[in-house]
Amino acid sequence: MADCEKLTTCAFFKEYNDKRSLNMILDKFIADYCQGAKQGECVRKKISKIYGIEKVPLNMTPSGVPVLGTTRDNWSKEALNPSL
Ligand code: SF4
Repeated sequence: MADCEKLTTCAFFKEYNDKRSLNMILDKFIADYCQGAKQGECVRKKISKIYGIEKVPLNMTPSGVPVLGTTRDNWSKEALNPSL
């Protein structure tokens, strides 16, 4: 399967791809979404398309939850309660 079309510009991938070997959950998100069959379901992409990329928090995973060990503090209201 081809990688997500946003892979080279995606802030989440840029920030966390280097850390995936340290975190099995991150590794699975990247494998399943960014490089896998669930890329069309990515919540980051959906929020970006509807509300704009500036509304997508850096620490939001493609499933829409915060990266393990981080919080929703400072998330936009669109990210906290998106109408997708
Ligand atoms: S987080 Fe979403 S938009 Fe970013 S590379 Fe992964 S699937 Fe694509």
